[in-house]
Amino acid sequence: MTTTSKRHQLLIDGKWVDALDGATIATVNPSTGETIADLAAATDTDVDLAVDAARRAFDSGPWRRMPAEERARIMHRFADLIEANADEIALIDTTDCGKPFAFIRDVDLPNMADLVRYMAGWATKLEGRTIPLSRQQPNDFLSYTRRQPVGVVAQVIPWNGAALAATWKLAPALAAGCTVVLKPAELASLAPIRLAELAMEAGFPDGVVNVVTGTGADAGAPLVGHSRVDKVAFTGSVETGKRIVSAAATNLTKMTLELGGKSPVVIYDDADLDKAVDGALGAVLYAQGEACTAGSRMYVQRSIVEEVQERIVAAVPKIAIGDSSQRDVLVGPMISDQQRSKVVSFVDGALEQGADVLVGGATVREPGYFLEPTVLRGVTDTMTVARDEIFGPVVSVMPFDDEAEVIARANNTTFGLAAGVWTSNVGRAHRYAEAVNAGAVWINCYNVFDAALPFGGFKHSGWGKEMGGEALDSYLQSKAITVSMA
Ligand code: NAD
Repeated sequence: MTTTSKRHQLLIDGKWVDALDGATIATVNPSTGETIADLAAATDTDVDLAVDAARRAFDSGPWRRMPAEERARIMHRFADLIEANADEIALIDTTDCGKPFAFIRDVDLPNMADLVRYMAGWATKLEGRTIPLSRQQPNDFLSYTRRQPVGVVAQVIPWNGAALAATWKLAPALAAGCTVVLKPAELASLAPIRLAELAMEAGFPDGVVNVVTGTGADAGAPLVGHSRVDKVAFTGSVETGKRIVSAAATNLTKMTLELGGKSPVVIYDDADLDKAVDGALGAVLYAQGEACTAGSRMYVQRSIVEEVQERIVAAVPKIAIGDSSQRDVLVGPMISDQQRSKVVSFVDGALEQGADVLVGGATVREPGYFLEPTVLRGVTDTMTVARDEIFGPVVSVMPFDDEAEVIARANNTTFGLAAGVWTSNVGRAHRYAEAVNAGAVWINCYNVFDAALPFGGFKHSGWGKEMGGEALDSYLQSKAITVSMA
């Protein structure tokens, strides 16, 4: 699949089909610029069919009414298949989205299998409660709650780490008993398609998992605005998130959002600098900065700024950049030439406003869309590069003097996805963790994810959580039932 062009179809009601009008869109390997496959380009009529299939599968109940243990068993088979095909999935995903192979194979794939198993475990534990009524005798009424799936879920995901994003969405929805129409990003649909093939092999009934590929305008918009969809789960940019909230408002569709970030990473003068500098660079360069958690604001205590900068200048040129399918590569290509130009324009804008490049900044290795890791200094909090999500390998080193100042500056953003701090002072670390407005805080580490740990943003970074027991909540609704015992 990764070397020869191939035509991919939509998954609707358990069958792989072309778009009704036969249209396709090409998908490109960003390491080489070559077209690697053609995707069926769904439009509103295809979306209708997919939603109808998911609706039928939900309403007729083959999935939600299946004994929970059987549902869990199918999910365990799905996890086994993910593990058995991990090398292939990682190769497909890296070739399609440019995230380095090692990160997908060694970090994402284990997390994906873990999460499907973790959620499979929940399928048998979706319990309600019995609730004593406060103004009644104990034997007047019996009141209890049941937790039931919300219904048909539209799941729209981005291109960065598409296999991981698809699994974070599918696993809790399926454990809850929902049926799904998944819309991968047009720039990286191949790994989600492979996962859907494995889901069919695992034995999910027809119509439980449907996949519509295509553009945001033609496939995504009709899906999220569909009147027969009960919930939308979206991961992507803030701008698209706002558009989706408006589109879903007509039907008051339930919604969870995982949006962008502008995460602060703080290095105090008492930090172990060997670990802190590597860790802070990794925080922004992971997946060449095309990560929602990218720590693109590096606040360094003034007394150690010179030393940290010297270490950065020494470290960055040693980072392996190249074709993302190579195992030793740590920085792959940007997803597209357009994305690279956008990132370069952030750097140019900062330079015009008085910042300068400490290291990096060159575009390299045509025809792939590569950009050197770029570290800026002389950046102020008001510059665009310090305020907007860049989604590229660019970080600003900004000095600070004391704790109160750096916490205020860390929080001076509309985003609230993640935050990091390096310090050997335990009290200071926990004070930061308490004060910073972010859904994930990492102390002396960064980007540590786990199937059991909820992940999701504050403020404009989103609504709701992925992973952990909390992720299930948004796929369930509780019903209060009262019976008279008279
Ligand atoms: P995007 O918002 O451009 O697209 C995301 C998805 O939405 C794609 O599938 C796209 O086709 C679809 N889409 C676009 N317009 C739509 C519309 N009007 N209606 C319905 N669907 C539509 O985002 P992107 O460029 O693919 O991804 C990058 C963004 O995703 C970044 O902002 C990043 O921070 C964010 N992200 C967040 C998380 C998180 O967990 N918080 C994780 C990964 C990525």
